[in-house]
Amino acid sequence: MRPAILTLNAGSSTVKYALFGDDGVTELSRGTLEETGEAAMAKALEVTRTAEVEVVGVGHRVVHGGVTYSAPARIDDAVLATLESFVPLAPLHQPHNVQGIKAARAAFPNVPQVACFDTAFHRTRSFVEEAYALPRRFFDEGIRRFGFHGLSYQFIAKQLAVVAPDVAKGKVVVAHLGSGASMCALNGGRSVASTMGFSTIDGLPMGTRTGAIDPGVLLHLLDQKHMPLKELETLLYKESGLKGLSGLSNDMRTLLADESSAAKEAVEYFVHRCAREVASLATAAGGLDALVFTAGIGERSSAIRGRIVRKLAWLGLAIDDAANGRNSTLISTRVSRAKVLCIPTNEERCIAEAVSERLKPG
Ligand code: ADP
Repeated sequence: MRPAILTLNAGSSTVKYALFGDDGVTELSRGTLEETGEAAMAKALEVTRTAEVEVVGVGHRVVHGGVTYSAPARIDDAVLATLESFVPLAPLHQPHNVQGIKAARAAFPNVPQVACFDTAFHRTRSFVEEAYALPRRFFDEGIRRFGFHGLSYQFIAKQLAVVAPDVAKGKVVVAHLGSGASMCALNGGRSVASTMGFSTIDGLPMGTRTGAIDPGVLLHLLDQKHMPLKELETLLYKESGLKGLSGLSNDMRTLLADESSAAKEAVEYFVHRCAREVASLATAAGGLDALVFTAGIGERSSAIRGRIVRKLAWLGLAIDDAANGRNSTLISTRVSRAKVLCIPTNEERCIAEAVSERLKPG
């Protein structure tokens, strides 16, 4: 039987799995289950039993590695206990990740398991990027801007060296625009800034999450409107963003096809905030050699890419409409002051490669 690496991404509403060869690069199969919990995990693990492969390593996407992890970690009882201690930092995501690890360890008790963190890639950022302007003790307690989507940014940083080596070592803003959306400033392939903060709510507006919001609004809702805490959590994570603004859908395709002014305003809000954040992150990076679009919206919506880049014309960016319409890799014109690129992300491969590296002897 062929040796294979299984990757598991147990999210808040889906379980995504993939099988790779033991090189961590050759993809054998992948799938998504639109459910969570033990039954979903059992189905995902069952797939590997029918795939005629021998699972030699399992990689888990884990949303939070706290301040502890700046690289993937081989999972043992102590690491698992540490990951469980991060549940309060990501209460909507981390429990699913932990459950996935427990199920996979039970199914493959003698197979090495590796945790790959969404936060780890951002551990290279400076104090001013990581801190909030709260009294110092909060920073020491771990109330920090962690940043997320790190596996996607790490994959893109590596891909850039292949598809655009001239800018890979330079100053790059990566826009990961999916249901969850964030941006990251890279300098020399390392994260120097990101739009997400302590939680996955911050920064850009998303499918159902608010993005940046004045904490004064939350104080007002809690204090003056007596909104229960759980209701506030649901509002911020599940009822806001594109869905809240449009009153219609969290799906960008639906909104782009809709004629209502609320749908148009929701899309314009998204585009406006994205363009503003590119300029902000370019300042953090100290310049802009390239802007990269990735994830569902970033990879597939030429309309959104075009609208964001046109708002950045003052920075000298210029989009090639024909190349953009084809979702080509290079979508800027020759005169554009920075390259604009469209690069598909692959978080699963980033995980599989990390597992493969750890399977090598020595
Ligand atoms: P997830 O965070 O769930 O992995 P994805 O990266 O798959 O999300 O992105 C999902 C988003 O991408 C949805 O808003 C969807 O509408 C959007 N999307 C997918 N294809 C297109 C397209 N052709 N045009 C515009 N938006 C698209």
